[in-house]
Amino acid sequence: MSEALSIPGWRHIYSGKVRDLYASEDPADTRLLVVASDRVSAFDFVLSPGIPKKGELLTSLSTWWFQQLADVPNHIAEGEIPDAVAGRAMLAMALEMLPIECVVRGYITGSGWAEYVHSGTVCGIPLPAGLKNGDRLPEPLFTPAYKAPMGEHDENITFEKVVELVGAERAAELRDTSIALYTRAAAIAEEKGLILADTKFEFGTDADGTLRLADEVLTSDSSRYWDAETWRTGATPDERMASFDKQIVRDWLASNWDKQGEPPALPEEIVERTAARYRELIERLAG
Ligand code: ATP
Ligand code: MG
Repeated sequence: MSEALSIPGWRHIYSGKVRDLYASEDPADTRLLVVASDRVSAFDFVLSPGIPKKGELLTSLSTWWFQQLADVPNHIAEGEIPDAVAGRAMLAMALEMLPIECVVRGYITGSGWAEYVHSGTVCGIPLPAGLKNGDRLPEPLFTPAYKAPMGEHDENITFEKVVELVGAERAAELRDTSIALYTRAAAIAEEKGLILADTKFEFGTDADGTLRLADEVLTSDSSRYWDAETWRTGATPDERMASFDKQIVRDWLASNWDKQGEPPALPEEIVERTAARYRELIERLAG
């Protein structure tokens, strides 16, 4: 999946499903160059083809959100972005990443909904009976997942498990910071007629031990966004949750693939629709 580029002064060190990381060739420079590709993943598989301009859209959206949420320390570093990746890269401090996906849900759907149907809970938190897919939760919930090593699937975990992984103090800091970030971002989205249904943050620690918001933030890959008016008036879950995010891809895949072997190629129409919705989201949010 690696699409390592030759970027003067930078050396490719890692490729995730969507982003490629480069380290500086100068040993005194500890920054990372995080390059967003057009690759799209669903159910932890990288799909083909990519979504045209996705890397740029995700980078602009993430950068815009980092600015809105600047009162929480983040991983953004100063400097010049190399021409070869202009528009689709960020400079970041190299952090020690915590192996936890800090998911916050204001609405119930996706894997949260699946758990609720099965056991009436989300990440072990009991919820009121009678919720429907896409309903608003009484309050935003921290529903963490363990960030599985490459090739394995992330799994929802309880808060107690987070405490085991990172200690009680850090776990509380992750939960409280994530909920505060979600609440702030959801209010900003609401002003633009958008519902931020859920999102995932990743954090790391710097050399001083300071917790910093890292990775991408509040993009259409890491979040579910719905149109507020459509949600209010929609009769069925599908109508309510008409989304500005990767759900289009997930839904197509879920009805056209049995999750055995390689996923099928995405049809042109799905690629186009996803690209158009990503563009629409950034226009509505950041104008
Ligand atoms: P995986 O981590 O399993 O590869 P992924 O497929 O989601 O997951 P990408 O999102 O494509 O990976 O790649 C980005 C990678 O960079 C992630 O592993 C993320 O945790 C890591 N990362 C993000 N910000 C930083 C940072 N400031 N310092 C170090 N690593 C970072
Ligand atoms: Mg990622």
